[in-house]
Amino acid sequence: MSEIHTVGVVGAGVMGTGLAQALAQTGHQVLLVDRTEEILAAAERTIREGLRFARLLGAKGPARPADDRPKEDRLKEDRPKEDRETVLKRITLTTGYEGFEEADFVIENITEDWGLKQGVYRRLDAVCPPRTVFAANTSVIPITRIGAATSRPAQVLGMHFMNPVPLKPVVEMIRGHHTSAETVATARTLLAQLGKEGILVEDSPGFVTNRVLMLTVNEAVYLVHEGVAGAAEVDRIFKTCFGHTMGPLETADLIGLDTILQSVEGLYAAFSDSKYRPCPLLVRMVDAGLLGRKSGQGFYDYATTAA
Ligand code: NAD
Repeated sequence: MSEIHTVGVVGAGVMGTGLAQALAQTGHQVLLVDRTEEILAAAERTIREGLRFARLLGAKGPARPADDRPKEDRLKEDRPKEDRETVLKRITLTTGYEGFEEADFVIENITEDWGLKQGVYRRLDAVCPPRTVFAANTSVIPITRIGAATSRPAQVLGMHFMNPVPLKPVVEMIRGHHTSAETVATARTLLAQLGKEGILVEDSPGFVTNRVLMLTVNEAVYLVHEGVAGAAEVDRIFKTCFGHTMGPLETADLIGLDTILQSVEGLYAAFSDSKYRPCPLLVRMVDAGLLGRKSGQGFYDYATTAA
């Protein structure tokens, strides 16, 4: 596919809102789906805020279509900034799947729950034309399993975007058992249009990123649970000793503790290995609604900054 115009984004939470913003800023028509009007209204507020922040950072309008100049030249180009309403008009918010018959590409970002995701892929398979490529932005669910829930496994791949999506230049791409070379090429076209790069890996639960990251975060929670160190001390050690920009518990708060728990449980189920047993403190915090930035409280307090 030489150019991708209309992109369906399913799930308007932390990742779906970031993706919708990044896609609209780069000139794509976006169909953003979630379960309720309330969630969509909150998503729109988040995107507005994200666009305000992007403008402060000096984000430019979309690049010329089918631009094959080197990335450095494209970034130097003097493109006008677009106003917020122009970008927002490219995003259609919906609780149904209207318009998906036009979707060139769909990125699924719903809750990390296999039962829920399975239902969404069946629906997508029914409403999208045969040419549409499906990308799963999952944390740990195998892409081969997702492909098997559709009638088009060759057109399904993993695209594990990093949070916050508009600011992160690299995406982990995952090739499922049946994913075709053409599908990988189409996904790379979309990434180029977004100004991002992909690193391709083979399918395995948690891929490269979360196989390591989730284990690290869970172990860091155990350190706090056992009273070995406080959250701030754990994070300071990672930042000052290893030069990490964020510590593992700040990262957990950014991702969302519910997503961390679902991911650790997913790895535990996939490998039947006790090294992925979730820390009881993580379970208790999720039960208490302490989900990190998105709820206003996690290992740190965000009450004054939460949406
Ligand atoms: P989130 O909880 O912020 O958002 C999930 C959204 O999915 C919610 O708004 C929910 O209402 C919606 N949803 C649930 N069922 C739905 C359905 N049937 N139809 C439509 N919408 C539905 O979660 P998130 O952090 O955005 O994560 C989404 C996905 O991206 C997960 O699979 C997660 O593992 C993955 N992921 C998360 C991060 C991160 O840093 N948070 C990074 C990469 C990938």
